Amino acid sequence: MRRASLEGELRTALEERQFSLHFQPQWNLLGGLQLVAVEALVRWQHAERGWISPAEFVPVAEELGLIVPLGHWVIRESCRAGRLLLDQGHEVRVAVNLSLRQFRDPMLLDTVRQALEETGLPASYLEFEITESMIMDDIDRVLEILGSLKALGVTLAIDDFGTGYSSLSYLKQLPVDQLKVDASFVRDIPHDRNDMEIAAAVIAMAHKLGLKVVAEGIETHEQLAFLRDNRCEMGQGYLLARPAPLAEVMSLLEVELAD
Ligand code: C2E
Ligand code: MG
Ligand code: MG
Ligand code: MG
Repeated sequence: MRRASLEGELRTALEERQFSLHFQPQWNLLGGLQLVAVEALVRWQHAERGWISPAEFVPVAEELGLIVPLGHWVIRESCRAGRLLLDQGHEVRVAVNLSLRQFRDPMLLDTVRQALEETGLPASYLEFEITESMIMDDIDRVLEILGSLKALGVTLAIDDFGTGYSSLSYLKQLPVDQLKVDASFVRDIPHDRNDMEIAAAVIAMAHKLGLKVVAEGIETHEQLAFLRDNRCEMGQGYLLARPAPLAEVMSLLEVELAD
């Protein structure tokens, strides 16, 4: 029932602009913490129910095709945020999550190009996160879409790596730059030996394929130390910074600049 009512409410929410973006910093882990990117995470402030998690409404929006207009908005707002950060002297990328429908949308490239143009954000400051499930269908089509995004000059990352079913032979063909180790492999470090082995193996494999690695969901110093020992270049998580409105991220950065 909740899902059914979400459908109607999502449409209204789009019209009434009940969405906002939070940004979670991503840090360089090796050689001192340094902010390299912020990941845009959509938030829905529902009139009666308060905040609704994207984990709940993004899949519904995806099913209904509403993710395409919502995603356009996210891309534009993210580019605007990236431009604002640049104007304040913060040279960090903005990473945007893409869903399957958006990825397959024939208008995606135009949308991205237009957002970059309108906001004046150089493409090198924009990043897209895609998931393994999106790269598993038609490899030729996937290569074409990724290739044209890449040609714009954006950075590409594979999100939630290890939770889907991408084959390694696919992976090495893709023009991606980064791999994000899913938080589920980070969560139980240093207690779960298997997760530690998997995280270390994923990092090593990514490096062999010439990819940089971002660890998700870093919550403890032990996890951070383990990832650093394994030469994981970048990371994000509550230990380092929670997702927050742009203004808050900016004040965090002011402190960084002052250091
Ligand atoms: P994701 O892209 O894997 O994003 C990471 C999620 O982990 C975010 O949840 C973030 O708030 C959370 N997180 C970050 N650090 C920690 C930590 O240390 N511990 C824990 N437990 N969690 C942490 P969020 O914001 O609820 O987003 C959930 C998912 O919704 C995202 O997963 C992404 O798949 C999707 N999503 C969010 N925004 C968008 C969007 O604009 N477009 C699309 N297509 N999907 C989005
Ligand atoms: Mg993501
Ligand atoms: Mg993720
Ligand atoms: Mg995740």
